[in-house]
Amino acid sequence: MTLSSDAPRTETRFLYTGQSLTRSPIQLPGTACTIVPRVSLANLTSFRVGGPAEWYVAPRSIEEMQASLAWAQARSLPITLLGAGSNLLVGDRGILGLTIATRHLRHSQFNEDGIITASAGEPLARLAWRSAKRGWRGLEWAVGIPGSLGGSVVMNAGAHRSCIADRLLEAVVLNPDGTLECVTPEELCFSYRTSSLQGDKRLVVEATLQLQPGGDREEVMAQTNRNLQHRKKTQPYHLPSCGSVFRNPKPHPAGWLIEQLGLKGYQIGGAQVAHRHANFILNCDRAKARDILQLIHHVQEKVEHHWSLTLHPEVKLIGEF
Ligand SMILES: Cc1cc2nc3c(=O)[nH]c(=O)nc-3n(C[C@H](O)[C@H](O)[C@H](O)COP(=O)(O)OP(=O)(O)OC[C@H]3O[C@@H](n4cnc5c(N)ncnc54)[C@H](O)[C@@H]3O)c2cc1C
Repeated sequence: MTLSSDAPRTETRFLYTGQSLTRSPIQLPGTACTIVPRVSLANLTSFRVGGPAEWYVAPRSIEEMQASLAWAQARSLPITLLGAGSNLLVGDRGILGLTIATRHLRHSQFNEDGIITASAGEPLARLAWRSAKRGWRGLEWAVGIPGSLGGSVVMNAGAHRSCIADRLLEAVVLNPDGTLECVTPEELCFSYRTSSLQGDKRLVVEATLQLQPGGDREEVMAQTNRNLQHRKKTQPYHLPSCGSVFRNPKPHPAGWLIEQLGLKGYQIGGAQVAHRHANFILNCDRAKARDILQLIHHVQEKVEHHWSLTLHPEVKLIGEF
């Protein structure tokens, strides 16, 4: 799901503290960057739920990102990074501190030797299509993933038995002290849907991928298209979700375990276990984040009880519920 609209600047009552503070946007000195109070995150996440960010900023450059970080640190505010918001469940009462969105960090460079360097906010699917159009192999699997490049590095996004770790040459991260650092895939300790960046304070600002140039353009395009069609047939793309809710345990995938328990279609409030794929929870009728959270817990309990297995969420839960 592409999230293209900019953040609505609503004056929502901030539920986290129960206060209704009147705050004004703040211009960061020396930049064109504005820090905005109380921005609803429901429109900025693929689940379409969640309360406001106490403060929100969407920098357009690394310098603006550094300035935003420094602004929050000077006030001892916690920082939350928001990519495309496609793997997040934001609590109904919002997120304290500064939420930094990478959506406007959108630069990319394709070199002749199959190397792509792109900013954190570039949509992964867009990079995949642009690569396919050049006949470059290596990102055909990524077309159906609605995340940003930065979020995909953090999550080690993957599909069709491939993942970002297979293609990453290096990433540039912004350290909490404001310095930039180049890190290698080895340093990021990638494994299934994880990297050492999860639960870490480093922010990805840029990444470089190595693809295989020189392929047949029509063939790469056709494979990319087949992957997308397959996903649309097997996964529900028509309603808001976060993709797979749970990490797949072994030997059976989470969707199969959940489906065996007859939970497809099970609903709490506006949140429903998808009929098309049981590892998806859909926001089918103005769900609240707490409906989704309750449904996650319900599925976990049923699976634990029947299969003696703990399902671990792949989706990141942030803020107050
Ligand atoms: C319909 C659908 C299908 C999906 N299919 C797949 C799939 O096939 N495979 C798959 O792996 N995933 C899939 N996903 C999940 C999601 O798209 C991926 O996890 C994606 O990589 C998340 O990227 P994002 O930019 O949306 O990150 P977000 O959801 O914004 O953030 C995810 C986490 O990364 C952190 N983060 C984001 N950007 C940065 C940054 N620049 N620096 C530091 N931290 C950052 C956030 O704080 C958060 O903890 C799917 C989601 C949907 C909605």
